[in-house]
Amino acid sequence: MSKKLYLDNAATTRVKREVLDEMRQYFDELYGNPSSQLYELGRKSKQAIEKARKTLADFINADEKEIYFTAGGTESDNWALKGVAFANFNKGKNHIITTKIEHHAILHTCEYLEKFGVETTYLDVDRYGLVDLEQLKESIRPETMLISVMYANNEIGTIQPIEEIGKIAKEHGILFHVDAVQAFGSIRIDVNKLNIDLMSMSAHKLGGPKGIGGMYIRKGTRIDNFIHGGGQERGRRAGTEGVQNIVGFGKAVEIASRNLDERAERLTALRNRLVEGIKNNIPDVVLNGHPTRRLPNNVNFSFKYVEGESILLLLDMEGISASSGSACTSGSLDPSHVLLATGLDHGTAHGSIRFTLSEEITEEDIDYTVETMKNIIAKLRAMSPIKNDEDLKKN
Ligand SMILES: *Cc1c(COP(=O)(O)O)cnc(C)c1O
Repeated sequence: MSKKLYLDNAATTRVKREVLDEMRQYFDELYGNPSSQLYELGRKSKQAIEKARKTLADFINADEKEIYFTAGGTESDNWALKGVAFANFNKGKNHIITTKIEHHAILHTCEYLEKFGVETTYLDVDRYGLVDLEQLKESIRPETMLISVMYANNEIGTIQPIEEIGKIAKEHGILFHVDAVQAFGSIRIDVNKLNIDLMSMSAHKLGGPKGIGGMYIRKGTRIDNFIHGGGQERGRRAGTEGVQNIVGFGKAVEIASRNLDERAERLTALRNRLVEGIKNNIPDVVLNGHPTRRLPNNVNFSFKYVEGESILLLLDMEGISASSGSACTSGSLDPSHVLLATGLDHGTAHGSIRFTLSEEITEEDIDYTVETMKNIIAKLRAMSPIKNDEDLKKN
C-alpha cells in the first residue's frame, strides 16, 4: 500500500513550504541575538520578531504590546492560570471556573494550583460538548478571579459560545482566558469583540513549527511574569527568543489569514462529505461533537462494538494516520475525558476515532477513507464478542 493520508492535523501539522523558506535564513545567516542592538545582525533579529508580533496582533485585533511569545500552547495555558492565580492570591481571590473538556494543559495546571488553595469549578457540557451559560453564571463567586474556556475542543471540534461567556465575565469583572490553540488560524478571532483578556495560541497547529506559541494579554491585566531572567518579552517571559520559530509562526499566521474563509469553506465541505460517508455506509455510529458548531476540519465518530486502537492499527496498515481521542490520551487505556463528559458510556467512548483534515486533502482521499473504514469496521465487528452478544440478544 503506497497511499499515505495524514488525517491527524489536530495533533500537529506539516510546516508549510513558505514558512520553512522564511525560517531558514535565521539559522545561519541572520543568527544575531535580538538583544544585541549595537550591531545590525542583532537588530535584524529584533525586527523579524517585531514583524511577527505585528502579524499576530493584527490577526486578532490586538495591540502589538499585548502579544508575547512562549514555547507553545501548553506554556501559554500554564502562564494564564498560574500567572493570574499568583497575582491574585493576596487579593482574596482564589476561584477559577473552567470546563470538564479542557486540554490537559489547563486541567493539570488547575490541579496543581489546588495545592496552593485555588478552588476550581469544572463546568459540565451537554452531549454536543457545549457549556451551559446558566451553570456558568451560577458558579460565579465573589472570589472568582478567572474563567478559562477553550475556543474549540481539540477532540470533538465543538466551538463554545465565546462571545456570550466574554460578556458574562466582563459584567462580573472577572478575567477571561481562552485556549484558542485549535481555533486559531481556522476561525476569525477578535479579542475586543469577544471580551477576551488572555488567549493561548500555538504555531504547530496551523502550519508553523513546533515549540513556539503565543499569548495575548490585554493591557492592564493583573498577571505575574512567567519565566524569570533577562528582559525579553518586556521582562515577562525571559530567555533568548527562538527567532527562527517566531518568524515561522508569523509566516504561518500570515498565510492562514490570507485565505481563511475560502479554506474554511472548502474544509467544511470535505468534513461534511466524510461525516455523511461514514453515516451512510457504516451502521451503529455516533457523531461526537456538535453537528454544525464545530471546527471546519474535525470529524469524530464512535463506532460501537469495536476498539479505537484496533481501528487505528488497521488504518495505519492502509496508510491512514488518525487518532483515537487526543494525542495525550492515546497510549493510555482510559477513555477520553472529553467523550465521557459528553455522556458517552465507556464502551462507546473506547471505539472513537478523530479525523482532522488539512488543505492537502481531496475528495478522493475522503472517499478512500470512507471505503477503508467501512471494510475495517466490518472486519473488526465480525470478530467482536460484544457485537456477537448483542446480535444473539436481538434474535
Ligand atoms: C495542542 C493543544 C494545546 C497544546 O499546545 P502545544 O503547543 O502543543 O503545547 C493546548 N490546547 C489545545 C486545545 C490544543 O489543541
